[in-house]
Amino acid sequence: MKLLQTKDIRARNRMQIMQQLIQCKEVSRAEIAEITGLNKATVSTIVKELLDNGFIVETAMGVSTGGRKPIMLTQQADAGYCIAVDLNVTHIQVTVTDLANRFCAESSVPVKGESFKQNFQRLCGEIHQLVEKRPPSRYGLIGISVAVRGVVDLDGVIRFIPKLKWRDTDLKTLLHQEFQVPVYVDNDGDLAAMAERRENPGWDEMLVLSVDDVLSAGLVSHGKLVRGYLGFANAVGHHILNCKETRPCNCGKYGCWEQYCSCLTLLEAANRGAEHPSGSMEELAERIRIGDSQAQQALREFLDYLSIGITNLIFVLNSEVIILNSRLFSALPELVEEVQRRIILPITGLGTQTIYLSKLGQRAALTGAAAVAIEGFYSNCMEQL
Ligand SMILES: [Zn+2]
Repeated sequence: MKLLQTKDIRARNRMQIMQQLIQCKEVSRAEIAEITGLNKATVSTIVKELLDNGFIVETAMGVSTGGRKPIMLTQQADAGYCIAVDLNVTHIQVTVTDLANRFCAESSVPVKGESFKQNFQRLCGEIHQLVEKRPPSRYGLIGISVAVRGVVDLDGVIRFIPKLKWRDTDLKTLLHQEFQVPVYVDNDGDLAAMAERRENPGWDEMLVLSVDDVLSAGLVSHGKLVRGYLGFANAVGHHILNCKETRPCNCGKYGCWEQYCSCLTLLEAANRGAEHPSGSMEELAERIRIGDSQAQQALREFLDYLSIGITNLIFVLNSEVIILNSRLFSALPELVEEVQRRIILPITGLGTQTIYLSKLGQRAALTGAAAVAIEGFYSNCMEQL
């Protein structure tokens, strides 16, 4: 076993204290010592370092427990900012967050054609524009983190985005060359699962399923993300559900789950030859509500496939809870119960599976992406102090 060097222990203690400051919002030196188990002298020394370097600030006096009132400490959230990108298959969403992972600004550009180069240049243009508008801060842009709706390997290289046909794309290196800051690239399902895990730390066995333009998933087991040997353990949208399918999936196979269960395929089925086609999931939800027969038929088929796919995953993962994230279900939350009714688990002794709608919604992957960049920034800084 590798022995920790003194400087490693210091860096670890600093990070532990910094994490407390991020989690607790406002905390005193004595409380930090109590929570972390570090002695008061160590806490005081590290807090001084963090104050001197502008990572934290002293705020108002706290409540006294007998002696003099303690000075409270809080994270200096505007000491820098990060860019989080959701590289969707129809549009690219670019957001700015502060160091407390609060959204400060955002913009969106459509994905045009299938050329990566053209879309990469537009992405860089959007990031430059957002960066130019930020007020000056001590650390400025601390990192860029990208959520990708496709297969990303453990080194952060995009291996395949089926819908866009982009293969072996090292977006991480290209963005680093352009902006000269740390860059992180990961699958959107994994990032959303990390964000949901932070929101719900009590659930150690969790499946996070996003039914959007494509199907994405993130798997948490024993409280940790399940990535698999090469990093694509969560590519569940390409499990084959129909071996008789004659139309190819975007990935090249036939009969993948995603062919029947994405917002795009649902809209397509509901709009085929329709007199009043829907332009968005909200418009489609309205047609379903007022009893449009074509929309309802498309929904029934969609729910059949969704329930079958979820049931298959339950038999692989046996999660305590499934968190569903979808514009369709946000517009029609009563459908969650409908899915639960269709999930049949005859050999498990379970009635059904607990499913909740995500509270993070469309921001789940972006929140997870920003968290990775922010944690990376603090981790590097704590090592270098
Ligand atoms: Zn496929």
